Amino acid sequence: MFEKILIANRGEIALRIHRACREMGIRTVAVHSSADADAMHVRLADESVCIGPPPAKLSYLNIPAILTAASITGADAIHPGIGFLSENANFAEMVEEHGFTFIGPTAEHIRLMGDKVTAKKTVKALGLPTVPGSDGALTDLQNAKETAAAIGYPVLIKASAGGGGKGMKVASSAAELEEAYNLARSEALAAFGNDEVYMEKYLQHPRHIEIQLLGDTHGNAVHFGERDCSIQRRHQKVIEEAPSPGLNASERKEIGACAANVLRKIGYRGVGTIEFLYENGKFYFIEMNTRLQIEHTISEMVTGIDLVREQIRVASGLPLSYKQEDIVMNGHAIECRINAEDPETFTPSPGKIAGFHPPGGLGVRVDSALYEGYRVPPHYDSMIAKLIVHGTNRNECLLRLRRALEEFVIGGIQTTLPLHRRLIAEHDFINGDYDIHWLENYLEHKS
Ligand code: ADP
Repeated sequence: MFEKILIANRGEIALRIHRACREMGIRTVAVHSSADADAMHVRLADESVCIGPPPAKLSYLNIPAILTAASITGADAIHPGIGFLSENANFAEMVEEHGFTFIGPTAEHIRLMGDKVTAKKTVKALGLPTVPGSDGALTDLQNAKETAAAIGYPVLIKASAGGGGKGMKVASSAAELEEAYNLARSEALAAFGNDEVYMEKYLQHPRHIEIQLLGDTHGNAVHFGERDCSIQRRHQKVIEEAPSPGLNASERKEIGACAANVLRKIGYRGVGTIEFLYENGKFYFIEMNTRLQIEHTISEMVTGIDLVREQIRVASGLPLSYKQEDIVMNGHAIECRINAEDPETFTPSPGKIAGFHPPGGLGVRVDSALYEGYRVPPHYDSMIAKLIVHGTNRNECLLRLRRALEEFVIGGIQTTLPLHRRLIAEHDFINGDYDIHWLENYLEHKS
């Protein structure tokens, strides 16, 4: 097992990884930008190294600085966390070339799944259902027109290198296709330096259902059930729950087994998530994320398993500690992502935290790096806390979530806490009756 892990990240996820390391008796190295010198992950780690100025490009994405920090502190392994370098295959490769273990899959697997066109082809060949669409990348506008005519409007143009909802454009009719095609390509080029796009049928009322997976280097793979992440704004998740109110036990078992089988077939090591859209009883693969996800917490709450601990164990070469039959889903969990933003306009609201009172009690977990007096910097993602609530059933979970949201105080800046309080009081949410478009419709009509 590793003796020292460098955590190449910041905020709540750096803290989350630090906590798993501490419980495993592993020492931690925090890296930080000059804007994060007072951050909680820096305070709690055994050692810390400043790796550059505030812009992420010069610090959290600065590969030479991170490798140097690992070298001078004598770390054995590097955990990339979420975002930043976590899905960068070149980084994974360089980490290993410099003699450290990358806590994640191999560079080949990151590359395979990072290109969405190749990923879709790969999983299709391994038996997963995919969204009807172009056979690979679109070659030109004419090819886009023919494909759209064959699958029927509305269609969605997506970036092969996509992520974070960027480079995605809907065309409702032939008249809108040219513009959507050009916009998606230029957005993809700007965001990813690659303008390759592909086409999918635009599903009108799907749920976003994803399966949490874990594989080891001994040919084993298991799943931890699904998460429903349909409550989204601009393709970004806002609230997630496990299990999904829209699935039954046999659908859960079947899709979980199919997804775990893909990992086993490709020999995947580490945690990963296969994402699907689900409509009218059918699943459609959309992508695989080859890293930990923000919402991994709700799978932990319903299974009682520390996924970061398991991720570190398999990276060190140990076999999985669990067989599929040992993983039992218990009760219900919901996560609210709390952002430093105006809850009406979503304008970022960085600044000094003037008061902080996180909720507590049975079944309540808060993953956050905030503290009173901390200054939320303007340079990074606006998510500042995750409230995760567990109950013996969905109803108990909802009542507990309402209570926890009432208690939660974050002073000095604006946050999306008021939005969450409103959302969970909505009948559709209480009834579990929502799809991926629900939140945007709600925001358009209720504000
Ligand atoms: P990204 O990697 O940019 O997040 P995804 O492929 O995971 O892109 O899609 C993100 C979100 O976009 C999905 O959760 C869903 O809300 C929406 N989406 C993606 N593909 C489709 C589709 N074919 N039809 C309708 N919505 C889609």
